[in-house]
Amino acid sequence: MIEAKDFSGAYVGGRWVDAKTTFDVTNPATGAVIAKVADLDAGGITAAIDAAVAAMPAWAAKTAHERAAVLHKWAGLLMQHQEDLAQLMTAEQGKPLTESRGEVAYGASFITWFAEEAKRAYGEVIPTMVAGKRYLTLRQPSGVAAAITPWNFPIAMLARKVGPALAVGCAMVAKPAEETPLCALAMARLADEAGVPAGVFNVVTTMDAAGAGRVLCEHPKVRVLSFTGSTEVGKILYRQSAGTMKKLALELGGNAPVLVFDDADLDRAVAASVASKFRNAGQTCVCANRLYVQAGIYDAFLERFTAAARALKVGPGAEAGVEIGPLINADAMAKVVRLVGDATAKGAKIELGGHADARGGQFYAPTVLSAVTAEMQVSREEIFGPVAPVVRFETEEEGIALANAASVGLAAYVFTRDLSRTIRVSEALEVGIVAVNDGVPAVAAAPFGGVKESGIGREGGRQGLDEYMDTKYVCIGL
Ligand code: ADP
Repeated sequence: MIEAKDFSGAYVGGRWVDAKTTFDVTNPATGAVIAKVADLDAGGITAAIDAAVAAMPAWAAKTAHERAAVLHKWAGLLMQHQEDLAQLMTAEQGKPLTESRGEVAYGASFITWFAEEAKRAYGEVIPTMVAGKRYLTLRQPSGVAAAITPWNFPIAMLARKVGPALAVGCAMVAKPAEETPLCALAMARLADEAGVPAGVFNVVTTMDAAGAGRVLCEHPKVRVLSFTGSTEVGKILYRQSAGTMKKLALELGGNAPVLVFDDADLDRAVAASVASKFRNAGQTCVCANRLYVQAGIYDAFLERFTAAARALKVGPGAEAGVEIGPLINADAMAKVVRLVGDATAKGAKIELGGHADARGGQFYAPTVLSAVTAEMQVSREEIFGPVAPVVRFETEEEGIALANAASVGLAAYVFTRDLSRTIRVSEALEVGIVAVNDGVPAVAAAPFGGVKESGIGREGGRQGLDEYMDTKYVCIGL
């Protein structure tokens, strides 16, 4: 069994360590405190970095095959405890249990993927340019890596950082979001059980995210920092890391556009848009944020999309059949209320919802807005809630321009049955991920990441290893 009450200490150097103070972890569906965990100070974070520095050489000296055997065992344990982990995730994060179960499997798939991928982290033998010399490249682990992860996918966002880091021989210090530290601590417990050596994977818990971030950014022995979270915090970390010239992987905000063209398969466009928009109550960085629908299909799409959103069941994630859980905290609720208020004040029409759910707390009703304009905050900010603005457009050029009118560019969704349009639009969109006739593109085997202010680097795919490896050139005179 894995339960919230099992966890209180941070996991540093293979031991569970307490701090002078603790902070509360609450269930967003009920407000109940489900655990109190160690609130580490800067000294605690530094101790974890020291533990990683000490543990890394022996781990890096193992073969990729030896490390893979441990990682496979870890992924296996995650799946063996899938149900307990899903319950834990729903308790601290709020998402429906079916989504939590899916996330455990999704998280485990990154560890499996990278365990295998690291076996193929090939160097090169380069044809010589000068007689009597030979050129080689080696690919080596970059050094101790730090991970700062968000609350929306407490296992998957950590798995896709720790998977590649450990697979190539790095040691890691991970700081989970203060809202959801329990899943990370549970991962640490299972890593220990799987045989990950002490100090190779450390989980530091703290309420002082800014303080921990500074220590991780400024420590010269931390060579890689991988962060998933807001663009605002990503920029702080980017600046703070300049002094030690870290390698950075930044997965930041999205504001994903959806383009539904007249020639789209309407059933598919509606189903995939609903899946993309309302998954995790709208709290994912690739959630559909702005739905642009071409004039010829607009009325039919709006009607069908609204009907599908109306049918979604709101409630505590642990309750059977629930599709939309609570928002993560009071701030998230206040943001959604502000965005919808601003939109309606500027002339948006409420097709559905537009208010908190009747059950109160942090539950917000699925909401569909029409007559939305570019001036409204809802068009410019990442909503992170179950609110769908639907906007009419006329031509392909206009649709692309609307989609690209954002400072960020993570994912975009396109619905069309026209092959030429698929290619034209995919090439024109300023994003890192294009999903065509699909609502859920992220998988361990494919590179995930953004352009513009959505960040730097890619996670998943063969590219995901690169964040944790350096290429060394060796020139040999014969
Ligand atoms: P969100 O708005 O989704 O909570 P954040 O970017 O604030 O996104 O949080 C993502 C992660 O970044 C969390 O682990 C959080 O604790 C951490 N964090 C927040 N502020 C800072 C900061 N100033 N420095 C380092 N990490 C931070």
